[in-house]
Amino acid sequence: MHCTVLIALVASVLAGPIDFESDFKHNVDLGRLQKDLASLEERLTNTPEVEAEISLLKEAYGKTVIESPTPINGSTCKDEDINEINEKAGEEKDLFEGDVLLTTEQLSLIENIHSSNRSRRQALSDAGYSWGTVNPVIPYSYSAGYVARDRRPTIEAAMKFWEKYTCVRFKPATSGYRVEIRESAGCSSYVGKINDRKGTQGLNLGQNCMSIGTICHELSHTFGFFHVQSRFDRDRYVDIDFNNILSGDKHNFDLEPAEKTTLRDIPYEFGSNMHYYHKDFARDESKPAIYAKPAYKVYQEGMMGRLPTFYDILGVNKHFNCAANCKTSISCSNGGIQDVNNCRKCLCPLGWAGDKCTQRPTGTKTIAATATMQTMRSNFDKSTKGIEYKTQYYLFQAPAGMKVQMTPKVLGTRWSNSCDPMGIEIKFLRDARPSGLQVCDWRVQQPTITSETNEMLVQAYTLGDQSVVEMQYKAVN
Ligand SMILES: [Zn+2]
Repeated sequence: MHCTVLIALVASVLAGPIDFESDFKHNVDLGRLQKDLASLEERLTNTPEVEAEISLLKEAYGKTVIESPTPINGSTCKDEDINEINEKAGEEKDLFEGDVLLTTEQLSLIENIHSSNRSRRQALSDAGYSWGTVNPVIPYSYSAGYVARDRRPTIEAAMKFWEKYTCVRFKPATSGYRVEIRESAGCSSYVGKINDRKGTQGLNLGQNCMSIGTICHELSHTFGFFHVQSRFDRDRYVDIDFNNILSGDKHNFDLEPAEKTTLRDIPYEFGSNMHYYHKDFARDESKPAIYAKPAYKVYQEGMMGRLPTFYDILGVNKHFNCAANCKTSISCSNGGIQDVNNCRKCLCPLGWAGDKCTQRPTGTKTIAATATMQTMRSNFDKSTKGIEYKTQYYLFQAPAGMKVQMTPKVLGTRWSNSCDPMGIEIKFLRDARPSGLQVCDWRVQQPTITSETNEMLVQAYTLGDQSVVEMQYKAVN
């Protein structure tokens, strides 16, 4: 899945009560929006130093592309990500950052970006309305036109995901202010609660948006989050190749201003569920629009997480002050945090389990890495496609004092930009909290990864498609 921000302009607040039933594609001053965004784009250019760095990164990227890839079964299945879905649906042009709907107030705030009072734009992330804090309840309903009942289990599974890991609660409602799930070809949401009055705010979830990760992404917008690559610190982590982005799309890479914007002490994560895929909005889709800077180059193919990461979850918990649910604190190992839904237990980063995050997940297979290169395959046979993932964990262990070095090779079969249907996630840092490197594309040579400690954990997963990943590994000094 992938994410785009959609800007739908609602009727002016000055004109009286807003008809939120008709916000999307109605009463939208697209002319004004496009004019505004065009002037915004004038500011989006790179320094000569960054352009030189991009040239080198582009050359290096070209060398990773496999000319004649041969996935197992000759499969070339690919699922689209959010930006691709919205582009195909023709909705992209009405959206901000690909999948974000904006209110008239928010558009005005964007316009203020040209004024000296840039800090006003921080209000974009804080529209002045709140779903509440500490166990906020978000009422929702399906629009009358939303007849596809078979989608509801996936939508409700995404809501349950957020309920399981945070203090957010969703409640079906037929009256009062609420989020209304609407029929659309694309996937898009407003950012935050946009009003307090009677009515609804739209959450567009078309047929192609039906994965837990995509819906969790849109719900993150509804909570109040923008995209990771809009963070004001993103230029420390990625280079945006504006030469490979059509004018008219460049505004999707605008930055949130630093003034008063809170990052909630959450680090920049390439694998976040709220990060774009590296080719989103690329004019020439054989080349990235987003390059990981040289220090982070292993993440080039690993942008856009299939599910909210540990830090995505922590961010939502901070946003809603969920920790206030726990009167006394407990200590957790390996970066775990107190579970706001069960204060006696810890919520663990991927690869750790148990009440205090001291154990590896049940069924983890331990594999000894030696100085000799070895090869193993993680393999899932094709099975009934489900909403939830089937997973298998592998723990590669080098002798004490040594490190694990691995080169993964994806053999198929189904993939998407966000690695949604199948793939592996490699945890190689000493700090267990950041998301691992997500790997799923067989058309590129994957980087060789070296662990920071003598352990490297791999989570292999699939939604039901055949999934085979070959891992070459050895112990190194
Ligand atoms: Zn998005």
